[in-house]
Amino acid sequence: MIVDLHIHTNLGSICSQLGPDELLNRARELEIDAICVTDHHSHRGADKMIEYAKGSGYPVFRGVEIYTNLGDMLVFGLKRETKYHLTTFDELVEMTEEDGAVIIPSHPCRGWDPKHAHNHSFPREVLGHIVAIETHNGANKAKSNELAQAVAGELGLRGTGGSDAHAVWQVGKCVTVFEKNISNQEELIAELREGNYKAMYLDDLK
Ligand SMILES: [Zn+2]
Ligand SMILES: [Zn+2]
Repeated sequence: MIVDLHIHTNLGSICSQLGPDELLNRARELEIDAICVTDHHSHRGADKMIEYAKGSGYPVFRGVEIYTNLGDMLVFGLKRETKYHLTTFDELVEMTEEDGAVIIPSHPCRGWDPKHAHNHSFPREVLGHIVAIETHNGANKAKSNELAQAVAGELGLRGTGGSDAHAVWQVGKCVTVFEKNISNQEELIAELREGNYKAMYLDDLK
């Protein structure tokens, strides 16, 4: 099952231009099997998108991207809203443990790039608290993804892929290919823990 695990919509991220109808159409056109909306610090957009897609039968999952002192983290399964401010990684770990959620550092190796100089090179403090790292981020430069893949290889971590789309043309650039079919949010979290998936550039799949 091909899933774009990292998408920002204009329903929940002020930085995104991506509307629900164009997102669904584009995902279908690309033959991606499901999408996961991961707006910044809010599930509001994901919830609206799930509602919007309900009638169509197209699977939409819910995550959130949280800004921490160790960089942005994708979180799946959080049962609460967080304020849009710096959350410490320790606070995030506490919340995810309470809620049975999983953490995946997004674009973890951007720090070399002057444009993202505030980002870290891979923060090793996250080890032991994460189920994977995002090795394929559609908004990353190739080098950032290559560095993330090298870190994953070196540390024996699994990789996920997501477009980090903020506009329709970016949807589906990177994806996570799950061995199993995932039909709901609980199964998504279980599979992210289980690890039967790999990250890809969609172009390499075709
Ligand atoms: Zn981010
Ligand atoms: Zn993002």
